Parts: sequence; structure tokens; C-alpha cells
Amino acid sequence: MTILDGKKTSNDLKDEIAIEVAKRKSEGKKIPHLAAILVGTDGASMTYVNSKVKSCEKVGFNSTLIDLPEDTTEEQLLNEIEDLNKDKDIDGFIVQLPLPKQIDAQKVLMAVDPNKDVDGFHPVNVGKMTLDLPTFLPATPYGIMELLERYKVETSGKNVVVIGRSHIVGRPMSILLSQKRPVGNATVTITHSRTKNLEKITKEADIIVAALGKAEFLTGDMVKEGVTIIDVGITRVKDDSKRRGYRLAGDVDFESVSKKAAFITPVPGGVGPMTIAMLLKNTLLACENRD
Ligand code: NAD
Repeated sequence: MTILDGKKTSNDLKDEIAIEVAKRKSEGKKIPHLAAILVGTDGASMTYVNSKVKSCEKVGFNSTLIDLPEDTTEEQLLNEIEDLNKDKDIDGFIVQLPLPKQIDAQKVLMAVDPNKDVDGFHPVNVGKMTLDLPTFLPATPYGIMELLERYKVETSGKNVVVIGRSHIVGRPMSILLSQKRPVGNATVTITHSRTKNLEKITKEADIIVAALGKAEFLTGDMVKEGVTIIDVGITRVKDDSKRRGYRLAGDVDFESVSKKAAFITPVPGGVGPMTIAMLLKNTLLACENRD
């Protein structure tokens, strides 16, 4: 069994990006600048945004964090987005999800300039991705593809089962892996909360991407020997033995599934760090596009 080490791979990627940034600097080119908007004080969102900003520093990017209060109105947020769209120094920016209930997330994502949409969530970029055109790929599926590529996990002709059909993980993952690309050419089944006999489907899978957000849902008896497991889930599970009162759990029961898997991502240290590295890669691309 091989661990798909997202922490190590993301560090390798960040080193490669840092070299590119240093090169740009020595050539007198613009330094990539990523901005992030955070609305409210959700604990997990604050952790994610802070690690994104810290990663920018690590690779030599400029970064700006725009911290807005929980009671921010939709109009105020749209104004902030408009400012970032116009700001010539900002190459790309993200709006951390989820947003407070008074704000329509879809309206907000539509307001981001597609050329600065480094999360790849704007319909223009989703459309380009679907049509195999060059664009910003959504960071989590992009990170999974990078991990599969670097560990030389064969996807061509394989049976892939994606659990979850969200716009940010399951849906784009299923599209990308079915496309004609180096990590692709798979036969993909997308499953969701209304899927019947999931276990029968997962048992046939050569590769499973679990992205449903239910702690330790996928167990050893649901998979076949030699399967490759990508665990996207991150759920906080109450644990009084931990100082912070919780532990992070994936969607996969690592203990039982790892006994049968050929490759498996851990949680934490698997898909999570890759997502951040790919966001940086998209920001570098946005900056290069503007050269
Ligand atoms: P979501 O809640 O938007 O979507 C969950 C999906 O799972 C839905 O499509 C639903 O139909 C499906 N689902 C629910 N119960 C199911 C069941 N019993 N059987 C089959 N399908 C079922 O979630 P999301 O935003 O895609 O996130 C999923 C998980 O991944 C969460 O734990 C989230 O925190 C995590 N996540 C991690 C990263 C990362 O970088 N590692 C990034 C994004 C999301």
C-alpha cells in the first residue's frame, strides 16, 4: 500500500512555483498577487484562508486578506468584488465559501471576473473546462489529478467511482477524469445521496473519489483489493482527548480501507494541501496570462 502524500507533493509544487516567482522577479516581471475575501468568523473557513495566505508568503507571492463582518450585505460584498476586478495589481482572488445566509453565493461567484477566477467556479470557466478548453481548473479536483499523475496511478480505461456531485468537487472531478487528457480517459460513475446500492458500485471501482462529507463513511467491505482511494472529506469530529476538542476525519475509514488499497490519501495530509498548492498554480497562471 502506498500513501499518496499530499503534504510532500504540495511542498514540491510550492518549491517549483517559488522558483518561477524568483525567475519572474529577476526578469523584472510582475509578482503574482492573490486576494482572498473572508466573510464572517467560521472556524474552518478562517483556518483555510489563513493557510492560503501563508502559502502565498512561502512561494513569494503578494497576498491580501479582506476580512468582512458576518453581517456584510450582498451589495457590500459585490462592491468589494468589483474593486478587486478593477485592481490592476490583483491577478486572482477567491471568495471563501460558505457565505452567510443573507448572501446569494451563486450571484457572488458570477460577479468575479473570469480572468481572475482562480478557484475556477465562474460559469465561463466551468464551461471552458467542460469543453476541454484551457482555463482555471477547480483547485480540489486539479490537486487530485496532480497527485495521481505524480504517483503514476493509471486512470486510462479504469473504473472510477466519484461519491458526491457538488459543484466544487464531485461534478468537476467526474468531468475531468472522463476527458481525453493524461490523467483521464476513465470510465466514470458519479454517485450521490439518491444512489441505490452504492456498495455494489464501489466494489467494482478501480479508483474511488470520496467527497460526500460524512466521516469514515467508506469502509473496507465496500471496496475491492488493489483499489486507489482519494479521500476528499474533512469533517470535525468531537474528540475530548484533543486540546482543541475535535479531530479531523475523512470520508474513508482509513483503518479498514487501507488494508485493501494499493494507493490511499490520508486525512489530514492528502487532498487538503494539494488544493492550496493548485490555487497558487492557478494564480501564477493568471499572472502569466496578463504578462
Ligand atoms: P457537499 O455537501 O456540497 O456535497 C456532498 C455530496 O455528497 C452531495 O452531492 C450529496 O448528494 C452526496 N452525498 C451525501 N450523502 C451521500 C451518500 N450517503 N451517498 C452518496 N452520496 C452522498 O460537499 P462538498 O463541498 O463536495 O465537500 C465534501 C467533503 O469534502 C466535505 O467534507 C468537505 O469539507 C470536503 N472538502 C475538502 C476539500 C479539500 O481541499 N480537502 C475541498 C472541498 C471540500
